[in-house]
Amino acid sequence: MIDMKKILKKIINKKILATWTGGLDSTALVYLLIKEYNCTVIPYFINRGQRNYMKEKEAILYYSDKIKREYKDKLENLREIIVDIPPKFFKEKFRGNIHIFDLRNSDILNQGLRLAACEEIAFITTGSNVGDTFKDNSKAFYKIKNKESRTAIPEKNILIVAPFLELNWGKDEMVKWASENDFDLSDSWSCWHDNEKQCGECPPCMRRKEAYVKYDLEDKTQYLK
Ligand SMILES: [Zn+2]
Repeated sequence: MIDMKKILKKIINKKILATWTGGLDSTALVYLLIKEYNCTVIPYFINRGQRNYMKEKEAILYYSDKIKREYKDKLENLREIIVDIPPKFFKEKFRGNIHIFDLRNSDILNQGLRLAACEEIAFITTGSNVGDTFKDNSKAFYKIKNKESRTAIPEKNILIVAPFLELNWGKDEMVKWASENDFDLSDSWSCWHDNEKQCGECPPCMRRKEAYVKYDLEDKTQYLK
């Protein structure tokens, strides 16, 4: 049993919405929520015009089947929401400008909040962790985002929780936990590209490789390089 911080006690046995990209973090999170917190998970995925859409979707479907085989009633079917993030206007007019990705996580969470309100779900979880660099993945951000949701949709009282931030986990702790729980994360998809295998060189691929170093675990991910 892992450490239970106060805010994490709130999600035990609850029905929760989880952002799922098919990446290592959010895939580890879905399994962790079910295994450690006995949550019923309703996963949502944003088809946001990403280049690696098919790879992310394939990873999600693969792990949905895998997890459902073990926990039949704990994982609901995927809610896929189509919305361009960032919108095409920014991609065309400001190509190469890093700021077109500002508040991307906030945009994704807005869809989650809308969905949670419609489906009467009181919790949303995200895979944000201590290794994330964008500031809209930080604890300070979530504090304000929760204030925003409770101001805008006060009648729903939805709480966004980032379990890995609460546990002070980065990817290295996730792969350690997954290894201890015999949950192979190598078919999750982190790479920005959509090659047959993950490139092994883009920033998310590099961070993924680094995750296995600290505890000297074997990275079974197939990379091009
Ligand atoms: Zn890559």
